[in-house]
Amino acid sequence: MPRPERVYRTPAIILKRRDFGEADRMLTIITPLHGKQDVLAKGARKITSTKMGHVELFTRVDLLINAGRDFGIVSQAEMTEAYQPLREDLTRGAYAAFAAEMLDRFIEEGEEEPRALFTLFDETLSRIAHEPNPRLAVIYYEMRLLDLAGFRPEVQECVIGHEAIEAQDQVFSFVDGGVICPQHAPVRSDGITPLPLATLKLLRHVQRSRYAQLRNLEISAGLADDADRVLLGYITSLLERRLQSVDFIRRLRQS
Ligand SMILES: [Zn+2]
Repeated sequence: MPRPERVYRTPAIILKRRDFGEADRMLTIITPLHGKQDVLAKGARKITSTKMGHVELFTRVDLLINAGRDFGIVSQAEMTEAYQPLREDLTRGAYAAFAAEMLDRFIEEGEEEPRALFTLFDETLSRIAHEPNPRLAVIYYEMRLLDLAGFRPEVQECVIGHEAIEAQDQVFSFVDGGVICPQHAPVRSDGITPLPLATLKLLRHVQRSRYAQLRNLEISAGLADDADRVLLGYITSLLERRLQSVDFIRRLRQS
């Protein structure tokens, strides 16, 4: 006799979805207790499905899941937060897609402490959907995600000599995950990028602040671009593969 399946109810945010079979969808979700997982939403493509509700990307839902051997089966889905602007505004939608892709690549299934990641992602979607300056929300998210993933950038001291850095232009080393002072800069010839003083100050501010302290910060598009350049360069080097959405956002900005 097979053991009865374990059934549980959980909040979840949908990171990815793909068609599966005739009428079903496979969803990649993040949950506070069970981390990232794939679940099968049966009948999700039938308009008449009443128990399944809408399982749209980047929405928060309550799911009833039957834990299976390979993946869970969703038997009920109820939307709790639509984050509607992410579907109505191309730029906000692109930022959400980027944030979801980054999370998907950063976290493994069976992650130990998924709750903090879930909360960060949920709050980030809300900010991208509603804040006047979603770019700041994305920069904040990149910094916090690096923290939670164990790759906190070192922006206080030189990663080579460990002396406190001076108020001047530096370089950032993707290999070492932090700042290298001008004196030690020749130690690395690959995987480094210029880190102007203004960008360094912004990164320090973002690292030590809560979002509420940052949200009204007025920064130029050029400075935001430069902070993005350093953080994304670091993230990209960590992930080895470039994120598809990174290119998408770059194209958006150029157009
Ligand atoms: Zn140094």
